This record gives sequence, structure tokens and C-alpha cells, in this order.
Amino acid sequence: MDLLGKRALVTGGSRGIGAAIAIALAEKGADVAFTYQRSADRAATVARSIEEKGRRGLAIQADSADPEAIGRAVTETVDVLGGLDILVNSAGIATAGMTVDLSLSDLQAMLDVNVRAPVLFAQAAIPHLSAGGRIISIGSALAERVPFPGVTAYAMSKSALLSFTRGLSRELGPQGITVNLVQPGSTDTEMNPANGENADHQRSLTSLGRFAEPREIASAVAFLAGPAASLITGAVLTVDAGFTA
Ligand code: NAP
Repeated sequence: MDLLGKRALVTGGSRGIGAAIAIALAEKGADVAFTYQRSADRAATVARSIEEKGRRGLAIQADSADPEAIGRAVTETVDVLGGLDILVNSAGIATAGMTVDLSLSDLQAMLDVNVRAPVLFAQAAIPHLSAGGRIISIGSALAERVPFPGVTAYAMSKSALLSFTRGLSRELGPQGITVNLVQPGSTDTEMNPANGENADHQRSLTSLGRFAEPREIASAVAFLAGPAASLITGAVLTVDAGFTA
């Protein structure tokens, strides 16, 4: 329970990796607010799971592509939970397709949600964070290696989080706030199901020969959020079954 008394905000917590992160932080004692875009029922289920662990669970409908909604989500978190100690940027979207065919709206959506939103969430959260605060973003192992065609723009959007993490860690180090990046490999979610069309190929590129479960990504985030990671900042933790080995 080394996050007891901490207040966390996880973006994209209604399902997949973000939901696993919200629950893992609550299991370690944190009160957890999280955003979602459309899945109100599933968000309510995640909030109930958090409350069943004896923690506050707060589901906030907020489109990461909407700057006004981002500000509102941070304000609501601070008002309801009484402050903010941990921000996890997990909401993300991936539109596959060859670059030559990528529509302007799909490109814009990936840049808005995967790149601009983590910056805007950090901007809104920083005034509320104090020493010991944490900002953790979810990138992708595809930022390091792009072994198949059709994910170029998505991979590019995730590689932006590498320099964002490193630069922000320099800005916030003097305040005792750490900033880190977790880069999952193939993880079994609706975004990338382990029984999907391309799944066997993805498995064949890993050392362990398998997808991650969302909770295996969440445990890395919970570690970085906790006191055992007090000296880790500006770091990239790739959790990918050996995909980038
Ligand atoms: P997922 O199963 O598709 O879940 C996405 C989550 O993000 C949902 O909670 C969704 O909310 C939320 N979300 C999406 N667009 C949003 C928006 N505009 N505003 C607010 N919330 C939004 O995805 P996932 O696989 O868990 O991915 C989570 C993160 O891990 C993403 O950043 C992804 O890029 C990254 N990642 C995933 C994999 C993988 O293999 N799965 C690998 C590397 C990195 P709703 O339910 O309301 O739609």
C-alpha cells in the first residue's frame, strides 16, 4: 500500500491498459480519477472496482482531443480528490494504414490525442503537483522499432513522448517531480487483440513469444508511481516481451 493517501489521474481508464493502471494504483492505496471518451458503462465498472478496494474512484468523461475538456478533467480531479500527486497519460488511438492513404482527420486525431493531450494534461496538472509528484506517459515500443508497414504515423506520435519525457524531467526535477515513459509492446486489448489478424507476426518478433496482459504494463506504471522509483526520472521503461531486444 505504498500509494496510500496519493491522488492519481489516469487518462483513458475505461478499458485496456488504462483501466489496468487505474486498478493497480488503487490496489496500492491511491484514490483514482480517470477519463474516458465514450465507454460510460465500462468506466462505471472500473470506478466500482476501485471503490470495492476502499479507495475513491472517479470516472470523468473528457475527450483528450478537446483542450477545454482536459482542463476540466484536472480541475474536477483536484476538487473531488482534494489534490493531485500522480498523472498517467494512457489514452491513445492507433489508426493503421499506409502513409500514402492516411486521411488528414486520422493524422490530426492521432496527433491531438497521442501527442498534444499529454502536453496539455501535464500543463494543467503541474501547478497541483508537489515534491514526490509523478508524471508517467504510455508510449509504445513502436517508437523504437517499426518492423511492419502501416503504423508509421502512430509510431511517430509515440516517439514524440520520448523527448517530451526527457525534457519535462529536466524542467520539473528542481521541484522533486519525476517524469517517466513506459513503452508497452503488443498488449492484449481492443486496440490490439491477441487473436487479431497480425497477432502471430507480432508474437514472432518477441523473445517471450507472447502478448502482454494489461496488468503487466500496469505493474511497471505502479512501480514508477511509488517510492521505490524515487530516483528514476527522464527514463524509458520498455515492457515488450523482448520485442526491441
Ligand atoms: P484501448 O483498448 O483502445 O483503450 C483506449 C482507452 O483510451 C479507452 O479507455 C478509451 O476510452 C480511451 N480513449 C481513446 N481515445 C480517447 C479520447 N479521445 N479521449 C479520452 N479517452 C480516450 O487501448 P490500449 O491498448 O489499452 O492502449 C492504451 C495506451 O497504450 C495507448 O496510448 C496505446 O497507444 C498504448 N499502447 C498500446 C499497445 C497495445 O498493443 N495495446 C502497445 C503499445 C502502446 P473509451 O473507452 O471511452 O473509448
